[in-house]
Amino acid sequence: MVTYVQPKVRFKCTLCGECCRRYWITVTVDDLLAIFINSGLRPSEVSALYNANVAGDWQAPRIRLRDGYYYLVLRKRVDGSCIFNEWRGDRMICTIHSYKPLTCRFYPFIYHWVYDKLYFELYDKAMGYCPGVGNGPIVDLARESEYAVKSREAKERFRVFVNHWNKLVDDKSVEATVDSFMNYLDCVIGLLAGRPLECPGVFKVNELLPALTGGPLH
Ligand code: SF4
Ligand code: SF4
Repeated sequence: MVTYVQPKVRFKCTLCGECCRRYWITVTVDDLLAIFINSGLRPSEVSALYNANVAGDWQAPRIRLRDGYYYLVLRKRVDGSCIFNEWRGDRMICTIHSYKPLTCRFYPFIYHWVYDKLYFELYDKAMGYCPGVGNGPIVDLARESEYAVKSREAKERFRVFVNHWNKLVDDKSVEATVDSFMNYLDCVIGLLAGRPLECPGVFKVNELLPALTGGPLH
C-alpha cells in the first residue's frame, strides 16, 4: 500500500457531470483496453486526437502525425459532454463508471509524487463550481491512492506505445494520418484483449507487445 498525504476536505460527488463537460480526458492503452473488454467498443469509436499545439502541455505522450503532435482523448458530443455521460433524472451519470479511465477517478483532487509518496491537493479551479466540495463527510483518498499507482504504470505503458508509433512514423513505415493511427490503436488493443481486430498496416506489433504485457493490464 502506498503512503499518501491528503487535505482534510469534505467531498461527495453530486453527479452533476460538470467536470466531464469541462475537460478533455486523456486516455491510455489500459483505459481503452478496459473499455473494449467491458463494452466491445473499439478504441477508434470512443477516442479522438486533440492537437497538442492548441492544448498546451498536458503532461501526456504526444502522438506524431504528418501535420504535428496530438494527444489521445475520449470523444465528446457537440455540447461538450463526454460520450459516456447520460442523464438519469437530474443527475448526469457515467455509463462506464466501473471501468472508466483512470484520469476520471481523482477529480476534484490532483496529486504529485515525491519519490514513492503521494501528495493530494484539492484542485483550485474546482472550487467554486464543483458542488461536491464541502458536501458529505471528510473524504478518505485511500482508493484514489491505489488508482494513482495504477495510473503511473499505465502511463509508462502508454509512453512505450506512443514511442513505438512515433518511431514507425520517423522510419516512414506507416502513413502519419489519423486513420492509420486509429488502425494501429485498434490493432494493438484487439491483440491485448485476445480478440484480434483487423491490422491493415505494418505496425511491427511483435516488437511492441512484450513491452506492453510486462505488467498487469486490466
Ligand atoms: S463537478 Fe464535482 S460534483 Fe460534479 S460530477 Fe464532477 S466531481 Fe462530481
Ligand atoms: S468516462 Fe465517465 S467520468 Fe470520465 S469523462 Fe466520461 S462520463 Fe465523465
